[in-house]
Amino acid sequence: MSASGRSPARRARPRRRVYFFGAGRADGRAEMKELLGGKGANLAEMTRLGVPVPPGFTVSTEVCSAYLRQGGRIPADVEREALAALAKVERVMGRRFGDAEDPLLVSVRSGARASMPGMMDTILNLGLNDATVKGLAARADERFAWDSYRRFVAMYGDVVLEIPHERFESRIEARKAARGVRLDVELDGADWERIVHEFFEIVEEHTGRVFPQDPEEQLWGAVAAVFRSWDNDRARRYRKIHGIPDSWGTAVNVQAMVFGNMGDDCATGVAFTRDPSTGDRQFYGEYLKNAQGEDVVAGIRTPQAINRASRRETQASLPSLEEEMPRAYRELVRIYEKLERHYREMQDIEFTIENGKLWMLQTRTGKRTTRAAVKIAVDMAKERLISREDAVARIDPHALDQLLHPTLDPNAKRDVIAKGLPASPGAASGRIVFSADEAEARAKGGEKVVLVRTETSPDDIHGMHAAQGILTARGGMTSHAAVVARGMGKCCIAGCGELRIDHAAGEMQVRDLVLRAGDVITLDGSTGEVMRGEVPTVTPELGGAFDELMRWADRLRGIKVRTNADTPEDARVARAFGAEGIGLCRTEHMFFEPNRILAVREMILAADGAARERALAKLLPMQRGDFEAIFRAMAGLPVTIRLLDPPLHEFLPHGDEEIAEVAAALGRDAAALRAKVEALKEYNPMLGHRGSRLGITYPEIYRMQVRAIMEAACEVAAAGVRIHPEIMLPLITHERELERLRALVEQEIAAVQAERPGAKVKPSIGTMIEVPRAALTADRLARHADFFSFGTNDLTQMAYALSRDDAGKFLPDYVETGILSDDPFVSIDEDGIGRLMQMGVRGGRATRPGLKVGICGEHGGDPKSIRFCARLGFDYVSCSPFRVPVARLAAAQAALELAREKRRKRAR
Ligand code: ADP
Ligand code: MG
Ligand code: MG
Repeated sequence: MSASGRSPARRARPRRRVYFFGAGRADGRAEMKELLGGKGANLAEMTRLGVPVPPGFTVSTEVCSAYLRQGGRIPADVEREALAALAKVERVMGRRFGDAEDPLLVSVRSGARASMPGMMDTILNLGLNDATVKGLAARADERFAWDSYRRFVAMYGDVVLEIPHERFESRIEARKAARGVRLDVELDGADWERIVHEFFEIVEEHTGRVFPQDPEEQLWGAVAAVFRSWDNDRARRYRKIHGIPDSWGTAVNVQAMVFGNMGDDCATGVAFTRDPSTGDRQFYGEYLKNAQGEDVVAGIRTPQAINRASRRETQASLPSLEEEMPRAYRELVRIYEKLERHYREMQDIEFTIENGKLWMLQTRTGKRTTRAAVKIAVDMAKERLISREDAVARIDPHALDQLLHPTLDPNAKRDVIAKGLPASPGAASGRIVFSADEAEARAKGGEKVVLVRTETSPDDIHGMHAAQGILTARGGMTSHAAVVARGMGKCCIAGCGELRIDHAAGEMQVRDLVLRAGDVITLDGSTGEVMRGEVPTVTPELGGAFDELMRWADRLRGIKVRTNADTPEDARVARAFGAEGIGLCRTEHMFFEPNRILAVREMILAADGAARERALAKLLPMQRGDFEAIFRAMAGLPVTIRLLDPPLHEFLPHGDEEIAEVAAALGRDAAALRAKVEALKEYNPMLGHRGSRLGITYPEIYRMQVRAIMEAACEVAAAGVRIHPEIMLPLITHERELERLRALVEQEIAAVQAERPGAKVKPSIGTMIEVPRAALTADRLARHADFFSFGTNDLTQMAYALSRDDAGKFLPDYVETGILSDDPFVSIDEDGIGRLMQMGVRGGRATRPGLKVGICGEHGGDPKSIRFCARLGFDYVSCSPFRVPVARLAAAQAALELAREKRRKRAR
């Protein structure tokens, strides 16, 4: 920037603190949100565009910061500037502030850079007092004047004098009851006048002072209250949750009032330029006649639809604005179209109609559902408002989750009882069950269940499969429950620490609430909220716009997207979501199937090599069958199969009862079996006898697996299906270990080829990089590997000395206190683990240029990590099936970002 030739004087803090807008001219503009807040910047921009906006001025956010720093004083020169701007407003409006004959009234509106509902409300009709209210009445009638006055006193009382809102509300209710009417509009001028005097009494009682009658005093009081509201608890909490810095401050907008409550040719309303829930190109909104400010959203009367096309059933008996005030409506249409063209975004607008004349009071980018966001981006690209790149860049990849899973009906009531980690998105309701077997049994009987466990293990897979959702008390975002649930596309809340589960008693407790097996709960996997009872869900369908956006994304991205899939079913789901192969097929998940686990246990518990071979011979056809089905599901695409990885102990029975059962089934002595199970126990299984170490100790296991892969591949290839198997060795730590195992794999491949002359299947052989030593010696490992796949779960765990299964107890504190900005199991720790990855890629490709490199850890579905992998020159990422679209979009955005950087560099 320093080379851009801007003089230091231009860059210095702007002298101006107050920005006028009105009559087609404005000191500010849309880009000045930092200084003017979102509302002020857009009021200025609309004014410049020639849109009818009541004149006013914005006091900048810097004044707010100064005010708070200086202990609550508005600097005198700011007051002078503001009064000068007020004089301009008076000239445009032809009225004077505080004039008893024909007073100018203003609104005082807060407006930070980012929209912040935690802050103060707006004050309307400021400038009214016992004298000016009479002047106001002359413009229409008594009812209008006193209605405006009571609104002002209540808002000022609430916001500036901090008197509870209800105190005022209850007086209105009492008055309505006394008059036997139901609606505010049924009260007349005399009623409102009485109410105003009652309000004064409340104020005196509460503050010990009379309500301020001096308009200027009112103005400074309101401006100061807006500044102070930046520092209130609500606002602070909101900023903390949304990561908004405390230093920003809020701007204040002071704007001439226009009146929607002056009679039946007046109205106030809000609208979206497109449907915010579907994204359809349908102007959509609501208004109330003879009303002011927030009346529309406050629900005091049923608002009317803005046009016939968007009229809902409940509004059927009421005319729309289009019919009732056709001229103002046509003007509104003209303006919204202009704003959309200008901002190139769907707008959320606020307007008021005074005696048939339309005034715009706010415009901003409209909030929307993901479904609407996708539809709007695609439509706008087709309308040539934005480019296809813009459309792709606009959608938050995280938000796609909302589209791919059922979600809770946003209008339904929630009785939240606890909160855990949002481990896998989606929503689920069902009866509580505390064991996997019971989950399966009840689900078979047609019941919907939610599996609740302290934590899950591979033993629980069948129960997780049967359940609608999973809730655990322990474990983090990469705990077993979280990883498996995401893979299944199933809703999961993990690490819900407030939960006390008594599996034996069949009950769980949250503080003093006890729930029993069979009670119904609902999980929101996107927020981590656990709710009591059933909350209805909605399943949004994927439409043409989604497919179109994904096609555009695919054309932009460089990095491929594969999936982690262990079953043909997962593979098919992932392929439908656009996966370009399997990056990780874990062979052990197949071992947990009830009809196989016995053979697996027999293999593990075998007394000698011969017995082991016999057990392996039983497993061979089963594995072969699995691979055949997966190859078929992934016809034409690469499939990376990882040889057996977990410590063997995970497959063994636990507890006396289960051991006795297994002993009986295997025809062995229970005591001997128990001794063997004991012997296989490890102090630190994640650093123990697992991964390729199994292949070194029991080469026959890996041989069987390679044979199963090869035979399946030959079978499928013979049927004319094109396949690309890739055999991957887990937990490699040393060059010679890899060399030895590669030779073993090649031998078995050659053996199968010899049995089947003519079969041309030639798998590639590669290694995972998931141990720091592997990353450090990648140049050597590459001598024996056709590809690298980074296992970043283990790599993070080992290089960070962070147990994945225990981190839940302390990691949240690290994120909470800001020591870490992200959970390193969710987003790759670029400074640390990322360096190891970079070293791994560079080392590998130094030995073997063009070495294929991918990632198969959970990070493969995280947009930020995908961006990082793209930067490092990875060939592909691999993620769970339901994350594939998320990854495709994130990969496209990474490509756009890289291209932008390159252009910038070249320009320099
Ligand atoms: P929020 O930030 O909560 O949306 P606003 O400052 O937009 O609050 O004010 C809320 C409503 O008050 C507006 O939508 C509008 O209806 C009304 N309002 C604000 N300023 C004026 C004004 N100058 N004239 C008429 N109505 C106004
Ligand atoms: Mg508003
Ligand atoms: Mg691993």
